[in-house]
Amino acid sequence: MNSEQQFNANPFENYHCIYWVFTQLCNDFCDHCYNSSGPKGERISHKDCMAIIDNLPGKLDQIILSGGEPLADKKLLYAILDKLREKYASNTFITLQFNGDLLTKAILQILLDKGVNRFSIASIDRYHKKKGERKSILAQMFEDHGIVFHKGAPEIQKPFSELPRTYGFFGSTEEMWLGGNWARGRAFDNNIWKKDGHYNFCKLHSGAISFLDSTDNSVMQELSIQLWKINPCCPGTVEPMGDARKEKISEVLQRVSSSKVMQKLNKGNAYGMGESIGISADEGFERAMKLGNICLWCDEFFNRHFDMKSQIPKNTNTKNQFSEGS
Ligand code: SF4
Ligand code: SF4
Repeated sequence: MNSEQQFNANPFENYHCIYWVFTQLCNDFCDHCYNSSGPKGERISHKDCMAIIDNLPGKLDQIILSGGEPLADKKLLYAILDKLREKYASNTFITLQFNGDLLTKAILQILLDKGVNRFSIASIDRYHKKKGERKSILAQMFEDHGIVFHKGAPEIQKPFSELPRTYGFFGSTEEMWLGGNWARGRAFDNNIWKKDGHYNFCKLHSGAISFLDSTDNSVMQELSIQLWKINPCCPGTVEPMGDARKEKISEVLQRVSSSKVMQKLNKGNAYGMGESIGISADEGFERAMKLGNICLWCDEFFNRHFDMKSQIPKNTNTKNQFSEGS
């Protein structure tokens, strides 16, 4: 099958953005870390990472490589960048999201040579060890290499090779992450997660909204891979949708796309995710309020009511949630 036939057979072979945490190894150990990264953080092998790249869609506009601290697993990062270039040439925009603590001029040059388009420093806040104190040193290093400041991710237009390389800074602010920490990892263990069942993480940028499509122009089509776990969102569902080491991302997406539960998540409506199996949005909202967080309601839903893997209800008395004919 040629690539055109492949895209026609499975539209998810052409995808917009994948956020990949390829390592949870990190030089820091922040209290609010949602994936419990740290000096003893979980890692996957070189072989697994190469298999994951083989399983990425044939066309991918953007990939964001993150961690953990990608530079704490530098050899693996370099191998990933080489393999991405082999697969996509320069047709995929590569963002490196990292804390910047371990960056040197020599490493920056290697990253440029290996095709990184954007450098996104995610550590400018009071939770990180350095609390943003390296900001001016890093800015100087980027400028010296001809990399230009751009506050948010720039509008991505092809050909990427003609776009300037950019850098930017962000951190956990009261509105974002500090005030709204996910009920995950150390943020959960340290009891600094957002306790407000009204707050809908699912329809924000890092939530599941638009992971299947981009009908809402204000939110891009994005999914996350946490090490190897394929998730519709960055917080991550309690069970992943699939295993990126063993399954093609496009096949996993195609499989779940006919599920009415996953279609609700695609709309950022986790309260109503159970409607097709007889659990109303009001009930979902009530549970989120009781549990204090919409993602905890989502965990309960997948633990008690619905099997992520088979995409069928756990209670056989509940209604079949699949679309007609699927
Ligand atoms: S928040 Fe970032 S820098 Fe801090 S431990 Fe987690 S991955 Fe490392
Ligand atoms: S509600 Fe579920 S799908 Fe939505 S962001 Fe939270 S964990 Fe992800």
